[in-house]
This record gives sequence, C-alpha cells and structure tokens, in this order.
Amino acid sequence: MQLYNSATRRKEEFIPNHPDIVKMYTCGPTVYHFAHIGNLRSYIMEDVLEKYLRYSGYNVKRVMNITDVGHLSSDADTGEDKMLKGAKREHKTVMEIAKFYTDAFFEDCRKLNIKRPDVVEPATNCIAEYIHLIERLIEKGYAYEAGGNIYFDTAKLDKYYIFNDHKEEDLAVGVREGVEADENKRNKADFVLWFTKSKFEDQELKWDSPWGTGYPGWHIECSGISMKHLGEDLDIHCGGIDNAFPHHTNEIAQSEAYLGHPWCKYWFHVLHLNTNSGKMSKSKGEFLTVSLLEEKGYDPLVYRLFCLQSHYRKSLVFSFENLDNAATTYNKLISRIAALRPEAGEAFDEAAAQPLREKFHAALGNDLNTSLGVTVLYDVLKSETNATTKLALLGEFDTVLGLSLLPAAERARAEAERLAKAETQATVVTEGEANPEAEALALERIEARKAKNWARADELREALKALGFAVEDTREGAKLKRI
Ligand code: AMP
Ligand code: ZN
Repeated sequence: MQLYNSATRRKEEFIPNHPDIVKMYTCGPTVYHFAHIGNLRSYIMEDVLEKYLRYSGYNVKRVMNITDVGHLSSDADTGEDKMLKGAKREHKTVMEIAKFYTDAFFEDCRKLNIKRPDVVEPATNCIAEYIHLIERLIEKGYAYEAGGNIYFDTAKLDKYYIFNDHKEEDLAVGVREGVEADENKRNKADFVLWFTKSKFEDQELKWDSPWGTGYPGWHIECSGISMKHLGEDLDIHCGGIDNAFPHHTNEIAQSEAYLGHPWCKYWFHVLHLNTNSGKMSKSKGEFLTVSLLEEKGYDPLVYRLFCLQSHYRKSLVFSFENLDNAATTYNKLISRIAALRPEAGEAFDEAAAQPLREKFHAALGNDLNTSLGVTVLYDVLKSETNATTKLALLGEFDTVLGLSLLPAAERARAEAERLAKAETQATVVTEGEANPEAEALALERIEARKAKNWARADELREALKALGFAVEDTREGAKLKRI
C-alpha cells in the first residue's frame, strides 16, 4: 500500500518492520468532555486504515491511550488542566469524569462502527513506565530538573522539528492572555516530563516520584504506553493534524532519546473537520456530537459515509446540507442493495469479482482513497454478475468501509415487506362502537373480493346493510359506517 508519511512529507510504500505484525498506535481522546464529530473524523479514518491493513492480510496490533491526566489546554505546558476543568464544570471527581466520558467515547465509536483498539490504556495506569523513561532521560543527559519540574532539553537533539519548520518564536508561550512564560525552561521548545511544582493547587491526581509528588506531562504518556504494549519500534502512529506539533514532535524527541534509535516509521495525520467558523474544538464549547446528530434524525453511519467521501488529508467542512446529501446517498445505496435477490443455487462468480477487488485495492491502497472506494460499491452494483456475487463483494468491501451495508439492506427489505403486507391486510374499522358481527361479515367480504367472488361480496354488503352498516373500501381497509 502507498501511504503518505508526514515525517518524510511524501507517499511511501508501506513496509512494516516485522512481516508478521503491524504495530499501530493512536492518540486517544482527552476524556473531559464528549468527543465531537471532528475528533471522530480522525478516529473513523484511522479505523479505515486499520481495517484496510487487516483486509490486505496483515495482522495488526493497535494500542490507544485514554488521556485522563496531564493534558493542559494549550497542548504545551501552559493553561488549565483539561481534566480538572471538566471535573469543576460538573462538580465531580476527575476519575468520575474520566470514566463517564471514556464510556461515552466508546459508545460513539460503536455507533460509528469504529473498532475498539486491541489495547486501550488510561494514562493514569502507567505512572511507573513514565518514571522509568524520565529517569533514563535524566541519566542520558536529555532531561533536567528546574524549579521542581523535570523538562526535556530539546537543544540536545540534532533535529527537533520533524513535521514542520517551526521556529522558536512560533511557540506561543507567554502570548496568550494570563499565561506566564515558564522561566525554568532552558530553551523555549523544552517541555515538561513531570510536574511537581503543580500550577494547580487543587490537582486531584498526584503520585510519588524520585522528584517529589506530582504528575506526568501529556506527551510522555504516549511514549510510555506505546513502548509498554508495542515494544521499542512502531509502524504507524496516528492522530489528528493538531497533534503533529507539539505532541508528536515531543513524543519522537523523548522516545528516540530514550531508545537511542529511530522509533516510528510512518506518521498518519488526519486533517481537521471545520465548520464555517473554523476548526471544531472541544475547548470552544460549541460542538456537534454523535448524539446530537441522532437527535436530529441522522443515522451515525451517514456521518461515517460523509467522512469517507472525502480524503483524510484534506480538511473537511461540515454543514447539515452536506450531511443531508450523504444521507440521500446512503439511503439510495441501501435500497439498491436491498433490491438484490440472489437465486437458489447461484455460485460466487470469481472471474467477475477479481477486477472489482483490484479496483477496490487500487483505491484504498493509494493512500486510503476512501471516496474512490465508495464508488467501487456502485461498480459492484452495476456489474454484469449475479446477486450472490454482488452481495458477497459488498459485504467484503464493507469490512473496510464499515457502513453496515448488508444489515441495513436487510432491515430495509424487512421494512418494505412489512409495509406491503400491511397494505394487503384485511382490516376493518367501525365508526363508533365496535360490532363483532358486522366486522366478521366485513372480513368475509374482503376475502370474497380477494377471491373475485363478486356475487358473495354483494350478498355480504346486503347483510351488512340489514345490520345497519354501509361499507366503504379504503386503502386502510374496510370502513363500516352506521346508516
Ligand atoms: P483530544 O480529545 O482533544 O485529545 O483529541 C482527540 C483526537 O481528535 C486527536 O487525534 C486530535 O488531533 C483530533 N482532533 C481534534 N480536533 C479535530 C478536528 N476538528 N477534526 C479532526 N480531528 C480532530
Ligand atoms: Zn499521544
């Protein structure tokens, strides 16, 4: 597969470090609020990448952290602690907030067909690992203590900026209102590995360390968790583009300084979901969630399709109009699939399947061109082959795209059948009080009409008249009116 690598800034042939396993790491959510549909765009596209690798025959081990400590609102070392902010907002403890929003995140993932990673690790589970990493970094001369905190010394690296050409001035330390520049840092780009001099007097979660009671910085958690579960090398590291700097840049700095060799081969960054007023973000407070889309009547998989229709390396503008278009496309696609009727004894047509599979690989294997992948579904529907083959191929491609195509088509078919049956059902509605005798006659009359026994139907109409009822045939069934 050809995959764009943000570290080299070009598309490369994907070759895993070990032939038998692809090691994949994903920066998980900071669980101080619901995930917004922008966050979920990143997770949808990462999910497609993982599923495509599996579809291509690779074994994948994917690890995700849950950030429940250490993430400050600037992404660098300034601003409020996000978890603390969430806890204060809801008058709960940090751990209660973390549990609630972690569960909510995985519920959203379930609705969007995002597979749960093989390993999910909360940051607060791995304090010993971070302490070990930091101790080694200090021993190797890459980290220093100042003012009670432990910092990573970026001047010790030959190359710090990996994904961009940031200059020191670009680091907005001290620029934001109310945020003090950290006088302890030797270089502006240095970052905190361990806080002991907590800026937050009310910090709930603190642990003992060789440097005093405190808590880890955000960046160290991903290096620690990744190495704990995936060892000293990594094939693919994923995240939204805002993670590239400073988070991933700092992860590379500390991991490679610790290991003494290159760490991760491919960096996969998903561009942002924006609204007309800019990037969707949790901190802005106003954002869209999966539940909100559901409340407005959208199937979450319509949002997944909306994401698949554009390339992950382009920013995507969200609007309800665009989502409506995706809903129309989804519903049409599902009804076309629902109309496929395999015949008994039909065999899978390997010859017809081959070029369609190649087309699907050509799309997804080219830096995950999902929108082209979706068009292959139409190629399947249009192809000359039998319904059995079409359904099998659609199911196969859907193991990557995750649109629940076959179950949704099955539901659509069942619903259509239910409606058709309801239309032909013999129902009798009586005006006013029910009259069992008249209703029995009316039902018999419906049966007689179905059997085209008009003479009997007329007799029954007369019998009803004698009982004091006129009968009217409507789409909803027979209506009995009192004369
Ligand atoms: P957070 O919960 O803030 O740590 O973010 C979770 C994931 O969502 C990270 O990979 C972010 O890079 C990504 N992300 C944040 N905002 C957006 C957005 N507007 N569009 C796409 N991905 C985003
Ligand atoms: Zn991370």
